Amino acid sequence: MLARDPHFFERLTEQQNPDYLWIGCSDSRVPANEIVDLLPGEIFVHRNVANVVHSSDMNCLSVLQYAVEVLGVRHVIVVGHYGCGGVKAALEEGGLSVIDHWLAPVRSIRRRNQNVFDQLPSAKARWDRLCELNVVEQAIAVSQTTIIRGSWAQKREIAVHGWIYDLHDGRLRDLDVTVTNAQEADELHDRSTGAGGSQSR
Ligand SMILES: [Zn+2]
Repeated sequence: MLARDPHFFERLTEQQNPDYLWIGCSDSRVPANEIVDLLPGEIFVHRNVANVVHSSDMNCLSVLQYAVEVLGVRHVIVVGHYGCGGVKAALEEGGLSVIDHWLAPVRSIRRRNQNVFDQLPSAKARWDRLCELNVVEQAIAVSQTTIIRGSWAQKREIAVHGWIYDLHDGRLRDLDVTVTNAQEADELHDRSTGAGGSQSR
């Protein structure tokens, strides 16, 4: 790094100024900076198993609030990935371990859309679909937080996106659920809960 830019670390110690917050999976194959090819200082990151946004998760909410209100990020991106082990576990009924408690919202998506899943031709198709629906659901959860709603009420320009990463080809795909204001967020919420998930690859 120093060979390319002798002052890189000097600048980095002074401040971070990211435009993006990445909310992604803890999976070691899905590192934020490498996937979007951004340098340290350019993207703020929160990761947990299956990129879940619990409305009572103080960790995630603190990251979100700090990113939006202090760092002034303009884009909050929920990034899931195909082949997610957490999502796979949520395709089955769970046990009583901590991770089952954590994955309850993902399991709930599958249960609510069981008719959709029953029509899919293979276990792989069901897994892929739940990975996608989980991204949409968590992007909606972000857009319904008081942090994002409050930012929109204050006329801050901030967009919430849902992307999915494919381990097979290294590509990010936009699931086309971007919302930039409360009305769009509510429309997405209604569409998603009403249609049982309308997004497709
Ligand atoms: Zn994962």
